[in-house]
Amino acid sequence: FKPSPFLEAGAGASIGSLAILHLKRDQLIPVVLKSTADDGYAEGAVTNTRFGSFPHSTLKDVPWGTQVRASKVDTGSRGRGGAKRKIDDTEPKEAIQAGTGFVHLLPPTPESWTISLPHRTQVVYTPDASYILQRLQVRPGQTIIEAGAGSGSFTHASARAVFNGYPSQSSEPSLKKRRYGRVCSFEYHEPRAIGLQEEVRAHGLNDLVRVTHRDVYTDGFLLDEQDPKNKSPKADAIFLDLPAPWMALKNLTRQRLPARTAKIVANSASSDSADISAPSETETPTEENTEPFISPLNPDVPVHLCTFSPCIEQVTATVAALRRLGWTEIQMVEVMQKRIDVRRERVGLHEEGLRGVNASAATVDEAVNRLREVEGRFKEWHEAVKEADVVAEANGQPKPRPSNKDHPASHFESKQARLERIKKEAEERKTYKEGRLVHRTEPEIKTHTSYLVFAVLPREWNEEQEERLRKKWGTEG
Ligand code: SAM
Repeated sequence: FKPSPFLEAGAGASIGSLAILHLKRDQLIPVVLKSTADDGYAEGAVTNTRFGSFPHSTLKDVPWGTQVRASKVDTGSRGRGGAKRKIDDTEPKEAIQAGTGFVHLLPPTPESWTISLPHRTQVVYTPDASYILQRLQVRPGQTIIEAGAGSGSFTHASARAVFNGYPSQSSEPSLKKRRYGRVCSFEYHEPRAIGLQEEVRAHGLNDLVRVTHRDVYTDGFLLDEQDPKNKSPKADAIFLDLPAPWMALKNLTRQRLPARTAKIVANSASSDSADISAPSETETPTEENTEPFISPLNPDVPVHLCTFSPCIEQVTATVAALRRLGWTEIQMVEVMQKRIDVRRERVGLHEEGLRGVNASAATVDEAVNRLREVEGRFKEWHEAVKEADVVAEANGQPKPRPSNKDHPASHFESKQARLERIKKEAEERKTYKEGRLVHRTEPEIKTHTSYLVFAVLPREWNEEQEERLRKKWGTEG
């Protein structure tokens, strides 16, 4: 039994385990450490990056978080034709200069996996995934349904959220009753479903995540067809990242739907709003299907749902279907995360000195006001000179020569004085050396913006439960 490195990372990477090489904040490479090379390097397995080459022997058993320097790697094995060749001792070997590059060795987490995973589809990024999981109120021990699974980004985030120990570890009777978390993941594209299944196994998450290859629009969310007891996932929460979530909603009910309602709900995108927005009081389930109905939902709790759609038309159709099916607290949210980059920035003395009147203006408004003020002073000065000329002329006197000390420009520091002042201030305050504190909004952040629709389906309540409670509390009504 090997715990998942996503849940219990241990002290560092060992041979056979997944590690994340952190090159830059948005450049992470997932690597499974190997003892032997399958590409002919003399050093054994090597991962080559733009910051140099990293033999796995330099990464294994190193504590997480360590900075590892690039190594010189023997490239004799690569040959000059570009093809990979096994090392031949008779060949002259050339060593490439590894440079001074380094990486940080990190344990895998849902966050680092989301940035580094092999993309099979668009993925849900961490800002959305974390918001969705907290709005769905997902807790350890719960079961979450996810469709479609795609690249498995959200799968990993939800696996960690529901993790409540490993069922295969529990021999103690007290642990038998424990609810172990479960992610029931559905994907209709077979290669993607297989790819995720393999990843889940490789990441030690197979006790937690069950991947089913299924079209959820037509075939719904039940699990084991052979075992009626294990048929329903009994989901507490649902996340739908599908092109048409409303087509799946008819399969997420507590009771069998009347055939007409199921049809209307599945056609939410094309039906006219009068027909889809209000459920009909008179609809009853048709009895043509005699098999007992099994709901994929947990009957004992209100079920929380989230759908993830890039277009508002998809939202409209989803909301219409939700209303028809009795979901409550329907709400749409768009996560617009902005990452603000705060750093110290050095400004050269010369540049600072030449910025003139606006050198210390903090905002555009401030700069504009200051320019207006300067303009006003010049205007006033010209008017005063003109007036003095008129008075002199009227008195038959020569025009006075305006003195330099009254000129508006004399109100500003000379370039030399400004440089002197900045230098002095810089010496006084260490800030000059450290740079000025500035902040900027990053122009691009990795989040695939979509509209999130949230809703809650209240738990069922019937006469029998009401009666039981009445007896328990001894109250009427
Ligand atoms: N949430 C995923 C992640 O974080 O990696 C990405 C999901 S991707 C955008 C949408 C997936 O839904 C695709 O892989 C697609 O094959 C799958 N899909 C579309 N229709 C489906 C259906 N009817 N049943 C199951 N999966 C479906």
